[in-house]
Amino acid sequence: MEVDVILFDWGGTLSQVVRQDELLRRGAQAAARVLCESGIEEAIPCLIGKVEAMEKAAASHPELREADFSDVLQAWAREFDGLVHIDRIPAAIEAIGREWIGSLEPFPGSVEAVKTLHRHGIKLGLVSNCMLPPVYCRQEFERHGFGGLFNFTLFSSEIGYRKPSPKIYEEALRRAFPQDRPADLSRVMFVGDSPAFDVAAPAALGMKTALVTCYKGIWSAEDYARAKPDLRIDAVAELPARLGMA
Ligand SMILES: [Mg+2]
Repeated sequence: MEVDVILFDWGGTLSQVVRQDELLRRGAQAAARVLCESGIEEAIPCLIGKVEAMEKAAASHPELREADFSDVLQAWAREFDGLVHIDRIPAAIEAIGREWIGSLEPFPGSVEAVKTLHRHGIKLGLVSNCMLPPVYCRQEFERHGFGGLFNFTLFSSEIGYRKPSPKIYEEALRRAFPQDRPADLSRVMFVGDSPAFDVAAPAALGMKTALVTCYKGIWSAEDYARAKPDLRIDAVAELPARLGMA
């Protein structure tokens, strides 16, 4: 299989989500401390609940709009009127972002596999659903060892739309082909663990796809049944060999 461009999903594909729930709770506590000086005891659980509900709400939004921390913090501030310093919302988002670093860890062998693909001249892009502001997403991605290997990273928080919105794949293709996007996308491969977001949607646009199966359990049986990937791999570590680049 000949490919020139590979677009990767992040969580469940290159890296495993290991501590996100815990660190987002910590982030919400840190944000509440930044925003309130008193009355904080009852305000903290409310903010934690709002932060915990964010991703689910975004995933079921009719237009797949990504969640926005500023909106969530403002909604929370309205409930605790008089206690919250609204002007500190940017600092509170910064506190959440800093706490969130450490939420994921790279899967064994994924950094090495990406290095091999990079060495073979494959153009690499990241297309990830992540509600944290892109500056923290990029810090975390670099902490994993992927910095400098990717031609671009694209996070849903950057453009405000999540996979499987067509808007995020279109933006990824614009970044992969700034001047000369081919009509035929069969030399572009999308690699990910979601049968709907990383296989079915990119395949419908004409891309090749590889389904990573090591992180099963979060997607529906119907999604798995519908997905017809070109490759099935247990882990990204297998990918270079499967593409003849061992
Ligand atoms: Mg994933």
